[in-house]
Amino acid sequence: MTVGFVGLGIMGGPMAANLLKAGHVVTGYDVAEERTAQLAAKGGVAARSVAEAVAGADVVITMLPDSPQVEEVAPVILEYGEPGLLYLDMSTIRPETSRRVAEQARRKGIRALDAPVSGGERGAIDGTLSIMVGGAAEDFDAALPILRALGTTVVHVGPSGAGQTVKAANQLVVGGVYALVSEAIVLLEASGVDPVAGLDVLAGGLAGSRILELKRHSMVKREFTPGFRVDLHHKDMGIVLAAAREAGVALPMAALVAQLVAAARAQGHGSLDHSALLKVVERLNT
Ligand code: NAD
Repeated sequence: MTVGFVGLGIMGGPMAANLLKAGHVVTGYDVAEERTAQLAAKGGVAARSVAEAVAGADVVITMLPDSPQVEEVAPVILEYGEPGLLYLDMSTIRPETSRRVAEQARRKGIRALDAPVSGGERGAIDGTLSIMVGGAAEDFDAALPILRALGTTVVHVGPSGAGQTVKAANQLVVGGVYALVSEAIVLLEASGVDPVAGLDVLAGGLAGSRILELKRHSMVKREFTPGFRVDLHHKDMGIVLAAAREAGVALPMAALVAQLVAAARAQGHGSLDHSALLKVVERLNT
């Protein structure tokens, strides 16, 4: 297929490369010229604008930082896309924005899906992302050959916006677990208990989680090289709170986690890994 790819950053760059490896023709565009050049060096086509990336494409993918960038780029895709185009927004944005874009696309005969991902840069490079997709079932089926080149767990979770809601729930749980593991480390150390031995036991019992499995050693060593940056998690907690407000539900833990992530950022840790929530809990106790 001919794929237009807009947003070739940490995630989008390797995802576009995987589509090339799968035999698709990929025309990429990024406001940062060096990103577009990197795709061209791997065998992609460099576009000089969003319109150029969209022209003649069967599928267009956006992998942009946040809702405002999608709101800026989506109208151009809808203007230049042919009727029948599949438009997959894989950025993490507000469910409400995804629903609005999908409705505008529908009026132009363009099939839009929200398809945010989890799995980080490693998953993007290896093509092992988890992808949660919102939109019409027949559009999901049509997008599967593309999505399978990018991820191993690809699930249709409901209508437009549902993919973003699932991603918001994912970020809430991840943030909450980091906050609790941070408190566990502070408690163990303040009580004179070896945190490595303590967390080893936790990881093997009911408290076990993927975060404990992958991150307990780096957290105890205070290694916070990203990974997934605090700044991005701050953006995602904003999405969680907005989605909760729109759904009319109260999520007190989400509010607390959002404040802890905001504190990490305010303390200057925005570019550290989100496991640096530990620094915030430590600061509360020193
Ligand atoms: P990034 O900042 O590395 O990449 C975004 C790219 O979009 C940049 O290269 C930027 O130059 C480009 N861009 C911005 N505005 C543009 C515009 N108007 N037109 C064209 N290009 C534009 O971010 P990323 O880490 O690749 O994340 C992308 C999305 O994926 C975010 O929504 C993020 O929350 C989500 N995500 C990231 C990770 C991760 O581990 N990094 C994991 C899962 C999901």
